[in-house]
Amino acid sequence: MTEPAPLRPGTDRDSAAWWELVRRHRLAVQRCTGCALLRFPAREYCPACRSRSWEWRDCAGTGRVAGWTVTHRAFHPAFAGQVPYTVLCVALDDGPGLRCWGRLVGAGPDALAADLPVEAVFTDAEPSLTLVDWRPAAPPH
Ligand SMILES: [Zn+2]
Repeated sequence: MTEPAPLRPGTDRDSAAWWELVRRHRLAVQRCTGCALLRFPAREYCPACRSRSWEWRDCAGTGRVAGWTVTHRAFHPAFAGQVPYTVLCVALDDGPGLRCWGRLVGAGPDALAADLPVEAVFTDAEPSLTLVDWRPAAPPH
């Protein structure tokens, strides 16, 4: 039996440039040049002022756990060897309403709690694909 092909994130007009930034280990959100609103995921229009003008703004790469799910059963054969795994919804520290998703690394789900500080980890899954994962943040010194 052959191994199933790995699944790759779907990209579109608005997200392709974001994935390219991630491949270069940069976590960024869009910043509206009309009203300065930060937004993520990427989209064409600013939801506040409807401007189509924006720029990328690098993020701190930190946030807090807003929610998570632990997957015990693979929903696609490509993930069969990876269960169980945990996916986090992270509220980025850069601004309200900014949510990013990624796998939990460096800890198990028992370490999670709402609002737990986490930091981004760039995982080079393939030469042309980098994923944003999250790990519990080191305590402040
Ligand atoms: Zn705007």
